[in-house]
Amino acid sequence: MQNEFPTITLKKGKEKSLERFHPWIFSGAIYPVPNEVEEGDLVKIQTKDKRFIGIGYYQVGSIAVRILTFKDEPINDNFWSKKLNSAIELRKTAALWANEDTNVFRLVHGEGDGFPGLIVDYYDGCVVFQAHTVGMYRIKDTFLRVLKELLGDQLKSVYDKSAHTLPFKAELETKDSFVYGEEKEEWLVKEYGNTFNINVVTGQKTGFFIDQRENRKLLEKYSAGKKVCNTFCYSGGFSIFALQANAELVHSVDSSQGAIDLTDQNVTINFPNASNHQSFTADVFNFLNDMPEEYDVIVLDPPAFAKHRKVLKNGLNGYRTINEKAMKNMKSGGVLFTFSCSQVVSQEQFRTVVFSAAARAGREVQILHQLHQPADHPINIFHPEGEYLKGLVLRIV
Ligand code: SAH
Repeated sequence: MQNEFPTITLKKGKEKSLERFHPWIFSGAIYPVPNEVEEGDLVKIQTKDKRFIGIGYYQVGSIAVRILTFKDEPINDNFWSKKLNSAIELRKTAALWANEDTNVFRLVHGEGDGFPGLIVDYYDGCVVFQAHTVGMYRIKDTFLRVLKELLGDQLKSVYDKSAHTLPFKAELETKDSFVYGEEKEEWLVKEYGNTFNINVVTGQKTGFFIDQRENRKLLEKYSAGKKVCNTFCYSGGFSIFALQANAELVHSVDSSQGAIDLTDQNVTINFPNASNHQSFTADVFNFLNDMPEEYDVIVLDPPAFAKHRKVLKNGLNGYRTINEKAMKNMKSGGVLFTFSCSQVVSQEQFRTVVFSAAARAGREVQILHQLHQPADHPINIFHPEGEYLKGLVLRIV
């Protein structure tokens, strides 16, 4: 026995999903947790007949334990270093490691990289650490140590941005702050040769929606000479790729003035003389009712409309409504890029909702591409919940 962690015992038969390496244990599956166990503590998991299952950490809430390993092994710097090294190797294998063209990628994607509850993004040497659980917050210092060791000179700065993603009940009273290197908020980064100004402190999420990189690149192929409308544009990612393709005009829409300012800034950085871009501070639901142009290409990339199961139905209605509106008003032969980043909406549910929107809009629709998250947002095959981003590219006849 290598570890002396407190033990949590599974109720009879509750080991089944764990034997298939699913990394979550729900609170209903375990006997009362020993008194000494605090939120974030490492725990050993065993079956009712005392068979070892794995080591994880405890969390108050419906997911009571997240498994870190199914082996009885020491949880030390070497353990975390191996995990992080594997994440680094994946990005290199997938040709996503920082290069001249692209120096932004996700370095750690939660369960997909064996770090359940942790997100780490890389912006040209500035690393944003974002813990969504107490267990992952607790490894911050260790993570920083191994990160410095593995990245060496490539690491310029680390910003801890966990204050708003940790469960508020944990009362950790943390503050977002730079924990290493340059205390620089704004980073000019590159994605497929386009430049984006990322503010890691004030930006949404960790600063940028890295997960849409390949889908933005695909939009470029459809945009030459076209009238393109990028709704829910945030920092203007899709707009920049459309402009790169020499679109006839590009309209960017977001309800947040901050997002629109960011988009305008990024357009100016890349195309200082662009006269074919215009941005609109507007609610997309209204904008789609009364569009200023008949567009050839529309992008719908809303925030997660359904953040948890209880609101799934409303969320699905939201997706149906915007897709129906966009389809109704689309030019014949136009192309719609439509997305959902709600983890609780499955690929099939999303497709069904878009199908229903097409039927309501009374348009003929062809599916051209089925899109998803890129390789730096890997999905652990035993944790299908990690498959959150789905998209369809549709031709509206
Ligand atoms: N497509 C973007 C990411 C979109 S994030 C990219 O590639 O970077 C979602 C954006 O939708 C946020 O900027 C948010 O301000 C905006 N938003 C949310 N609800 C909205 C609404 N009803 N109308 C317009 N914008 C909205």
